[in-house]
Amino acid sequence: MGGTENLNVLHSTQVVVKEALTKLGYSEEMFELLKEPLRMLTVRIPVRMDDGKIKVFTGYRAQHNDAVGPTKGGVRFHPDVTEDEVKALSIWMSLKCGIVNLPYGGGKGGIICDPREMSFGELERLSRGYVRAISQLVGPTKDIPAPDVMTNSQIMAWMLDEYSRIREFDAPGFITGKPIVLGGSQGRETATAKGVTIMIDQALKKRGIDVKDARIIIQGFGNAGSYLAKMMHEAGAKVLGISDVYGALYDEKGLDIEYLLDRRDSFGTVTKLFSNTISNKELLEQPCDILVPAAIENQITHENAHLIKAGIVVEAANGPTTLEATKILTERGILLVPDVLASAGGVVVSYFEWVQNNQGYYWTEEEVYKKLHEVMIQGFENVYQLHQTRGVDMRLAAYMVGARKMAEAAKFRGWV
Ligand code: GLU
Repeated sequence: MGGTENLNVLHSTQVVVKEALTKLGYSEEMFELLKEPLRMLTVRIPVRMDDGKIKVFTGYRAQHNDAVGPTKGGVRFHPDVTEDEVKALSIWMSLKCGIVNLPYGGGKGGIICDPREMSFGELERLSRGYVRAISQLVGPTKDIPAPDVMTNSQIMAWMLDEYSRIREFDAPGFITGKPIVLGGSQGRETATAKGVTIMIDQALKKRGIDVKDARIIIQGFGNAGSYLAKMMHEAGAKVLGISDVYGALYDEKGLDIEYLLDRRDSFGTVTKLFSNTISNKELLEQPCDILVPAAIENQITHENAHLIKAGIVVEAANGPTTLEATKILTERGILLVPDVLASAGGVVVSYFEWVQNNQGYYWTEEEVYKKLHEVMIQGFENVYQLHQTRGVDMRLAAYMVGARKMAEAAKFRGWV
């Protein structure tokens, strides 16, 4: 192996978008339109910290493409947020919405901060400040934020409240992932994980493995990873490994998931309580049937792709596998369910939340899950069929399905 790989996620996304558009027969102009967000706002947010001093945070909101409908996507609070990352994440949201056929384009937001080191009050002031800074650009029919890495329903509630004050009307459809009492949807909290379990089921079927015989490793114990561990454990699969930012736990006989869920903090950290940890890198290389990267970008690269021992990789995180690693995994016959498909459950139920807000009529968890199931299975089938008929890898197939709808919409509007 050796050599270096370009780990800029915007670059790698553009490479695949270009390949997908070319395969679909679109012109270079279409790529010019879709390679970057239509709008990218950078904001500076002054926040009074608990020590009385003012700290100025940098935030972003990217709106990739609104040819299909309003833009949609989460807001991430993380110290490593960059402009290019937010741009790439907004493109991924466009692709996700295309794959699961939602009437949205992609958007994304991010603030460079570390919520693990901020108080409740500081986080509230930062969340409200961000909404004040972007309020002109967002709204229920323009651009609809949601939770992402290290943001949650409480943060959505503060953002909703700030937006409603500015606009002087109650606008629950401005943001999704809200607490249920503020118009949130049943099943939204667990939606990303639920969607991943549906994708795992489809992949296991293709490989003829029963879920009760399946051994799974999950990297990351945040919203997606922890609920996924719980659901897979309840379905009878053996969860052999989990991890957080500090390290990983692995046991070939299976972990005590209930205990770990009980002891995890709100940021998904739990491994600090143990002395027998291994590294995140080592965890990815342990034997299992299904590997689920559910943390951050660039975890499976050209350096470790040949060491992965799973037969199936399902990407619950955004961008966990690099382009070279995708090639290596595909060549090795590993079935890859790519991020833009596998992690779409969150935005699907966000869409259901927005629909419920618009009609002012709320559904049961059962109805939400039933609809989620239908949409995810259809998304998987469309991608898998294209993968087979066109002989392209699963990531390229997913990008082709995702890009087609927005390219067609842009064409009808006369943009290209
Ligand atoms: N942040 C989630 C994602 O990356 C959900 C976005 C949404 O619900 O709009 O898909």
